[in-house]
Amino acid sequence: MAKIQAPVKKGETVHVSVADLTHEGKGVAKVDGYPLFIEGILPGETGEIEVTKLNKGYGFARLIRLEQASPERVEPPCPVYDECGGCQLQHLSYTGQMEMKYNQVRNVIDRIAKLPHVPVHPVLGMDDPWRYRNKAQVPVGLSGGRIVAGFYKKRSHEIIDMTECLIQHEESDAIIQKVKDVCAAHGVMPYDEQRHKGVLRHVMARIGYQTGEKMAVLITRTHELPNKDAIVEGIRAAIPGITSIVQNVNPDKTNVIFGSQTQTLYGENVIYDTIGGIKFAISARSFYQVNPVQTEVLYNRALEYAGLTGEETVIDAYCGIGTISLFLAQKAKQVYGVEIVPQAIEDAKQNAELNGITNAYFEAGKAEEVIPAWFKQGIKPDVIVVDPPRKGCDEALLDTILKMKPKKVVYVSCNPGTLARDLRVLEDGGYKTREVQPVDMFPQTVHVEAVAVLELI
Ligand code: SAH
Repeated sequence: MAKIQAPVKKGETVHVSVADLTHEGKGVAKVDGYPLFIEGILPGETGEIEVTKLNKGYGFARLIRLEQASPERVEPPCPVYDECGGCQLQHLSYTGQMEMKYNQVRNVIDRIAKLPHVPVHPVLGMDDPWRYRNKAQVPVGLSGGRIVAGFYKKRSHEIIDMTECLIQHEESDAIIQKVKDVCAAHGVMPYDEQRHKGVLRHVMARIGYQTGEKMAVLITRTHELPNKDAIVEGIRAAIPGITSIVQNVNPDKTNVIFGSQTQTLYGENVIYDTIGGIKFAISARSFYQVNPVQTEVLYNRALEYAGLTGEETVIDAYCGIGTISLFLAQKAKQVYGVEIVPQAIEDAKQNAELNGITNAYFEAGKAEEVIPAWFKQGIKPDVIVVDPPRKGCDEALLDTILKMKPKKVVYVSCNPGTLARDLRVLEDGGYKTREVQPVDMFPQTVHVEAVAVLELI
């Protein structure tokens, strides 16, 4: 193995000043040009650090003592912020977070997409960047003889008991607490991961942001849930207005949360919510956007970029449960949605029906296979919307877009790096990127969402 040439040694303590933040929210300090990544320190700050790990071109260090604090530093309001790891930016003011996210998008648009002249707008953030999530799922375990529910301590499987999570809807906090209490009162044993014993593995809470409907999901190792009726009664009494109580059974030794069997213990097997006037039925296992307020902001921008007049044929690649497709169907002639998860396509079809939308067609499969097949059948889209997972669009799909030549491509992205990479491919194929709009879907975390519009020239 090549010898690591670093100007510092492991265990050494040094004073540094931080100039940058990585996309994971770590401070970057350079020692003789060698970058060290340090959790919990911000650009503009200086501090004493201990080097913990050295790699070939970069290393890691731990903050020992902050010397000069940034004016953007704030006291993280969450008492378990350091242990949890679910949020990474609570120590940075919200303005600072927006600036960091803007810079991240601007940087990749300049450096990877090589589009320094394309406008990147300021991030659309939230007026209140807390309590925005509509879904919480937490592991349950035993700690000191007590049933606890919360989160895994960073880099471990030790469960920390949590009474509230400041990015979750208050009702989700309440559901988790009450389900835990009721189960404890009825002698339900929490799951013991090591011995693969016990019953209750996870609790999930879901809230319809617009409708106020509430769902509790108990994920159990066994079919048998002792005192089931009493538990259901207990939960209903503790959470007035709960609309759905569901049990999901996962008997496997696995980190995957859900098993394949789901049964409704009380009420409906779905809750309803609306985004932009479209109603969605959400089951325990459905994928559904977790920040309903910002989803609407993002989709409105995507809709505006699509510039629909009612005459267009639109393809929504990576359509999930059809959220964007149905949103666009209101303004388009015909929408085609494709998604790899068959259950999501079933949900999309039901959601179309639920809203009386008849101009949306959904098909399960890989976007990079189904869309070329549609093209062969003579489907000619005016607009293509893509909303791929973090790894971005498949090359075959980008090729097909270049062959299909839609007038517009609207690219919704949860990873600026792959967005920039794919914009370059589309630019080289004859498209022009008009503008990019970052949207903050996940305040307090490092995640960045953005939507870009391209036109065929
Ligand atoms: N547009 C949706 C979901 C976007 S998330 C919404 O806003 O709700 C990305 C989706 O792409 C996921 O649902 C994932 O299952 C799907 N997916 C991943 N790889 C895919 C592929 N190769 N072809 C089609 N869909 C894919």
